[in-house]
Amino acid sequence: MTARRPAFARWLDDKNEITRMFLAAGSIPNLVNLAGGLPEPSTYPVEELAELARRAVAEHPGDALSYPPIDGLPALRDALAAKYATPALRLTRDNVLITSGGMQGLDLAGKALLDPGALIAAQSPAYLGALDAWRPRAPSYRPFFPDRNDFDPDAALAGAQFGYAVPNFSNPTGKLVGRDARAAMVCAARATGTWLVEDDPYGALYFDAAPLPSLQELDAAHETGDGPYDGPVVYMGSLSKQLVPGLRVGWVIAAPEMIAALTVAKQGSDMCTSGLSQRIALDALEGGAVARALPGILSLYRARRDALCAAMDAHLRPWWDWEVPVGGMFVWAVARDPAMNTDALLDVCMAEGVCVSPSSVFDPAGEDRRALRLNFTLNPEDKLAEGVRRLAVATEKFVAR
Ligand code: PMP
Repeated sequence: MTARRPAFARWLDDKNEITRMFLAAGSIPNLVNLAGGLPEPSTYPVEELAELARRAVAEHPGDALSYPPIDGLPALRDALAAKYATPALRLTRDNVLITSGGMQGLDLAGKALLDPGALIAAQSPAYLGALDAWRPRAPSYRPFFPDRNDFDPDAALAGAQFGYAVPNFSNPTGKLVGRDARAAMVCAARATGTWLVEDDPYGALYFDAAPLPSLQELDAAHETGDGPYDGPVVYMGSLSKQLVPGLRVGWVIAAPEMIAALTVAKQGSDMCTSGLSQRIALDALEGGAVARALPGILSLYRARRDALCAAMDAHLRPWWDWEVPVGGMFVWAVARDPAMNTDALLDVCMAEGVCVSPSSVFDPAGEDRRALRLNFTLNPEDKLAEGVRRLAVATEKFVAR
């Protein structure tokens, strides 16, 4: 008799080396962990949220303590429709689904949009959580690279069940998709009749530049008629990076028919997002807690980005290239030597006391061994500099082997 094993164990076998390394990272003393992707807890407005939580329970027990509607509290859906609407992008609450974090939007998209084994066109390298969410459908991937000169969005999207993009400060690269590439992607989605999932958890984190229009805003210009938005862009947002991740409140903005399909998927997933969290989110959006938290987050992350990049300039130039990101949480370092193997480098990094994320985990094919993702939001400036110094020592030892 064969032993019973969960089907996902197959995947753990594949990824075992890297998974083992990340799990070990938590228990190594003095390790500088640049591998993660978490916000800085000191930015959380703790007292303000405690008061909103108290008020949610005391003043809105029906919302906070019962089962809210599957698609979310109507007042929160209205508030988000109002927040994102522009003269061209007409939104009503029927365009809005509340999700349990942005992550759930990705999971629901897999359930509602993907046939088993179907093709996804994914901006690459891609968010690991999205690859995880869609793994049970065993999709195949067509990677596309919007910052390359030969980017052809029609060819990228044709025949895919949906396209997936993170236009603002992608995880893992921290890069922006430029305005022209955004406009071209939207036209291609319409021309090829393909849904386009726009995953935007970092859209509020512009440090140095004016925000670019979202794919959905650009797409709205193509809408005819004066009804609510009915186009192909399925926009996903979240409070995690602009307030706190612990509320687990995210949202999808899309055509009403898509919202209805995702709502059916959500019913079979978690029934509803916590009403307590939704009530706090609503009051935080409308009462200004989100707007008040953001300037502190931006100035802290900007200073940390500067510290990381200054240390990289001082120590990493012989081996690595990167672009300084104008927002978000990550820097993507690409080895000058195409034969670099960042999976193997990770062992040496851990021995030197620094943990980084190797590019293979962000490649749907698992083959990219040339790059590293470095996070700058969770460590103070001196630790970031020390982590980079250790990465330089590890790289030097690795290439000398
Ligand atoms: N998409 C991307 C690209 C992310 O990086 C993350 C979080 N790291 C998410 C979605 C999901 O975030 P959350 O569920 O906390 O909203």
